[in-house]
This record gives sequence, structure tokens and C-alpha cells, in this order.
Amino acid sequence: MRQIAIMEWGGEVGEISAPTPEPTGTEVLVRVETCGVCHSDVHIWDGYFDLGGGRKWEMSSAVDLPFSPGHEIVGSIAATGPDASGVEIGGSYVVYPWIGCGRCSRCTGDEELLCDSPASLGVRRTGGFADHVVVPHPRYLVPYDGLAKELACTYACSGITAYSALKKTQHLKADDWLAIIGVGGVGLSAVQLADAVVGSRVVAADIDPAKRAHALTAGAEAALDNGSENAVKEAKRATGGGPAAAIDFVGSPATFEYATNIVRRGGLVVVVGLFGGEVTLPTMTFPNKLLTITGSYVGTLDDLKAVIALAQAGKLAPIPVTPVPAEKAGEALSDLKQGGKVVGRVVLVHD
Ligand SMILES: [Zn+2]
Ligand SMILES: [Zn+2]
Repeated sequence: MRQIAIMEWGGEVGEISAPTPEPTGTEVLVRVETCGVCHSDVHIWDGYFDLGGGRKWEMSSAVDLPFSPGHEIVGSIAATGPDASGVEIGGSYVVYPWIGCGRCSRCTGDEELLCDSPASLGVRRTGGFADHVVVPHPRYLVPYDGLAKELACTYACSGITAYSALKKTQHLKADDWLAIIGVGGVGLSAVQLADAVVGSRVVAADIDPAKRAHALTAGAEAALDNGSENAVKEAKRATGGGPAAAIDFVGSPATFEYATNIVRRGGLVVVVGLFGGEVTLPTMTFPNKLLTITGSYVGTLDDLKAVIALAQAGKLAPIPVTPVPAEKAGEALSDLKQGGKVVGRVVLVHD
């Protein structure tokens, strides 16, 4: 098989050939057709995630080089292990990549996303920058009839990340405000899905005027500049005292502080973005403001099925996708790293 792979952390992205794996047991060998390039792939390419204060989580503790990232995969079944059933050779599916060890109590108790020894495709094991991936069980393969494969692959990360963050705010009432901070790719999907999943009023916040304009056409009732001088006051005024919940799709110190400052008393902040950094927050804020802060990370296999059903029902407008040949992966990563250059998703296409 051919693998587009990180050859050096933060450096060369090259091409290698490796023996095509043979599926055993319940495994399925998937020939990758499309693979979205996600912002996390840039962190993986860099070789670390920023934990703030100069601390880093090093990728080298999880995988060896050369390594093929890529977790937004659509592919067709090339071969099945002797115990894999329910999928047809040649059939094309979205691959759920957030796979656990399959043995611990979290995994067997249907809480795979909370597994302490994850085996995620494209993060812990070979992902869709390679033209073949091994999926441990057919249950991770989701049909996507009626959707384009260049779009369907993006639901495996971008789509479920938006959906699962929104699900954490489903207690909001119809006249409550939900703030969605950072309305680039994933945040914009959240704006689109908010009506179907939450049903409250939506205010978008972004420092980029073009993204604010997109959010308004995608269904946000108001759009705010969180980088402006009176940003917090503006948010409180626009929402009659502050939103009941804020989802931070950036996860930078500035957006996190903005989120905790704008939510009303008893408010909820959901942190999704992996921008990195750290903040200091007065501990008094929690009791005084009855503040809740929670994290949200990608989504479950059921979330993926739900997002695909919403897209099939026309409730999720397609995000703009740019298909490029897989060998352009290195360029796609540097464009994404520079920021602002990529609208929606760049999707690698293997031939
Ligand atoms: Zn991702
Ligand atoms: Zn596990």
C-alpha cells in the first residue's frame, strides 16, 4: 500500500510503500477513497499538543515515524477477516475513527470514547493519509447513501464534534441564548445544526467579519466580534444579560475567558477547541456564578450515525470541500497551519 506520511515531526511529509495488511478475526481492510484534513492533523504533524505554560503532549509518546494521520475517512471494503460480517466487499462506508482498546470496562460498557488506551485511526494507528486502513470491527463502518464521499468523510470528526458539543446544551429553553464562539469549519456546522439539536436562540462570535457574515446566513440570530474592546458588554447586551451556554470551538485563553465572562449566572461553558494555552480564573467564580465548565471531544459512534441521518434529511447544509490528490497532503497541512487560507475542508482523494 501507499502511505502519505509524516517523515519528521513538523518537517517533511513524504510517500512510502508498505506491505498491505491482511485483516484477521473481525478486522476489515478498507481502501481509503477520501480523507478530510483536520486541524488536529496539523498538531499531529507538529508532533505535539500545547498544554500551556511551555508544557507539551508529545506525539512521539504515542506513535513512531513515519506515521500517516487522517481520521476523516470514507473507504470501500477491500478484504474482511474470517469473523467480520455484515459488510460487503466493495461497499463504501464512513469509518468511525475514535476507537477504544475494546477490552476495558469503558469500551465494553458502551463508553468507548472514555477509554484510557485509545486506538484511534490517524492518531494512534495508521489513518487515511495511507491508501489502506485496518478497522478492528465492521460495526465502525457507517453507510452514507445519498451523500458525496468528499463530504461524508468530514462527519467523522468535524460533524460529530459539532453535534456532540451541541448535545451538551440540550437543556436550554427556546428563548435561551446559546453562544457559538469560533465559526470556522466546525463552529459553522454547529450553527447550522443548532436548531435541529438544541432549538434555542443562537449568537455567533468570531473575530473575522467574513465568518460572522457566514454564521448569520447559516442561522445565527446575531453575530458578535469577540475581539472588540467592549466584547463582553456587547454579548451581555445582545442576549439580555448573557447566554445560558457558550461553546468555545477555539479553545484559546482569549476565547475561554470570553466564554466564562459572557455566560449568565448558572451558565455552562463547553470547551471544544484544541488551540492550547492556559488561563487563570478566580475560584470564587464557580460558586458565585454557579458556573459549569465541561469539555467535549469528537463524538460517539451513535453521534456519527445521527449526524449522517441529519445530513441525509437535509438538516445539515454541506460545508465547502476542496478535493485534492492525496500526494498534496503536505501542502494542505501547511495551508491549514497558516490559517485563513482554507475555507471549509480540504479532502484528500486517493486514486
Ligand atoms: Zn479532526
Ligand atoms: Zn478501552
